[in-house]
Amino acid sequence: MTESDLPVAELTPGRWGDPSQVVELPAAALDALKHLGIQRPGATGAPAGVGGGAPGAETPRAAEGPGASAPAGAADRPELTGPQLAFLASVVGSEHVTSDLGSRWAHTRGYSTTDLLRFRAGDASDMPDAVVYPASHDEVAALLAGCAEHDLAVVPYSGGTSVVGGLAPTGRFITVDLRRLDQLVDLDEISRTATLQAGLRGPAAEHLLAERGYTLGHFPQSYEGASIGGYAAARSSGQSSAGYGRFDQMVVGLTLATPRGTIELGRAPMSAAGPDLRQLILGSEGAFGIITSVVVRIRPRPTERHFEGWRFESFDAGLTAVRRLAQDGPLPTVLRLSDEIETAVNLADPDVLGGGSGGVLAIIGFDGPYNQATADVLTAAGGENLGEGPGETWRTGRYRAPYLRDPLLDEGALVETLETAAFWSRIPALKTAVTEALVDALSATPPLVLCHISHVYETGASLYFTVICAQSDDPVEQWLTAKYAANHAIADAGGTITHHHGVGTDHRTAYHAEIGSLAVEALQAVKHTLDPDGVLNPGILI
Ligand SMILES: Cc1cc2nc3c(=O)[nH]c(=O)nc-3n(C[C@H](O)[C@H](O)[C@H](O)COP(=O)(O)OP(=O)(O)OC[C@H]3O[C@@H](n4cnc5c(N)ncnc54)[C@H](O)[C@@H]3O)c2cc1C
Repeated sequence: MTESDLPVAELTPGRWGDPSQVVELPAAALDALKHLGIQRPGATGAPAGVGGGAPGAETPRAAEGPGASAPAGAADRPELTGPQLAFLASVVGSEHVTSDLGSRWAHTRGYSTTDLLRFRAGDASDMPDAVVYPASHDEVAALLAGCAEHDLAVVPYSGGTSVVGGLAPTGRFITVDLRRLDQLVDLDEISRTATLQAGLRGPAAEHLLAERGYTLGHFPQSYEGASIGGYAAARSSGQSSAGYGRFDQMVVGLTLATPRGTIELGRAPMSAAGPDLRQLILGSEGAFGIITSVVVRIRPRPTERHFEGWRFESFDAGLTAVRRLAQDGPLPTVLRLSDEIETAVNLADPDVLGGGSGGVLAIIGFDGPYNQATADVLTAAGGENLGEGPGETWRTGRYRAPYLRDPLLDEGALVETLETAAFWSRIPALKTAVTEALVDALSATPPLVLCHISHVYETGASLYFTVICAQSDDPVEQWLTAKYAANHAIADAGGTITHHHGVGTDHRTAYHAEIGSLAVEALQAVKHTLDPDGVLNPGILI
């Protein structure tokens, strides 16, 4: 099975993926949780709720389980006024405007662990007042043009998988769900570009391209749920980034609807006509406008793929090897390196690592023929080829990890991830600093801190951390304290606050500290020009 065969995952509030596909933790994992002092909390009742669906659009299914239903108290908030609803209906048609509780709850927040915990607690504070489903760029533009007059703030919503509070602005708002913008508009085989609408989910886009013999090659772990517009708005990076690049490197053109009109960018792949404004919009997280479509570089579908595992004595040894590949090549399509703890937790099978002698695991993958020259670099750097077994295990399980978070939370574990990037020379100290900060901050519930190199460049790499520990009485506060400590460690060790999750609300303060007040002012000036009344994503990014 390849990515284009995977179905779109219809996410349900508070849980990842299809709720009928319950994932059970293996016995070894349950055992490991006991060692961390993690105990299943007493059963909690799900709040009484309401089902519901979005008229005129395919909607997330109502789900069983904690947090799946909207809390009854949420209905207490004043409703949108008649003129506000009439305005929305006049643009998209009344059948594409919904203010029922089920649809609003399904569009509340994203999928960070604190989001999931708040769902489970029935916290409806970030719920939109209504959800609208435009079907075209013109409808999006008309919505934005009229929102200020009707006193409406707007949150663009593509796949809804934000993990940085990107869907939870300050104040009341309506959500503009882009799922009806789901077309492959154009495919230029000579230039090898495709124009994709913003609401196309990852698998749907890949399927449309595969029918024509092409691939985008963008496979983030949220692939089953995230969408083209969100990839662009949050500068996403996929697991095959060594071969295909980040999403912002794939985009050669885009169309942006703003409250003041439309901006179209990208008349050539590269240009010296002033600063590259595409890069100003990529990563703007809905603060400047709504991206309604992008023109992306595409490649022919590979006819063969190879994945294999490599063992190194230590993370440091593996780091030298992957840096060599990143700097001098030849790069594979997938290149990742787990540290000792992640290797042990992920594999829990000493045989795979050559008789239980420890070490760390690297995964390499090729979309296309196997490249012996890549393997030769790894061998010369002290790597041991473990063959296709670990590579295939990683390939087939690559989208499963998020499904494990739900049963882990059910069992009383706090499990969350964070990521950063830095130049190569800073990577070892950065890894140590973040690990120590997390361990210190969570000392009351001693954590396991796992880490891997997830994306590489000639000049540096991204570090991706996973933290597991017992939940305290207030797990949201527990994580916010740990994250605060990690953010400071990242800043002090010379890392960026985010390599691919984006800024949202969670990283806003740290982002502003990273770029400085003059740069923040420049961004505010851009926002003021494009969105003078501040209707777009208030409090997100800037
Ligand atoms: C389990 C899991 C795994 C993940 N793995 C990865 C990974 O491997 N790599 C990675 O990069 N990220 C990952 N993420 C984070 C997330 O999936 C990415 O940030 C993704 O790009 C978000 O896409 P989306 O369509 O879900 O965007 P949304 O969550 O809908 O939106 C993200 C932000 O952009 C704004 N926005 C959305 N659409 C538009 C638009 N069309 N125009 C303007 N603004 C818009 C939103 O208002 C919000 O602020 C993961 C998340 C989860 C939950």
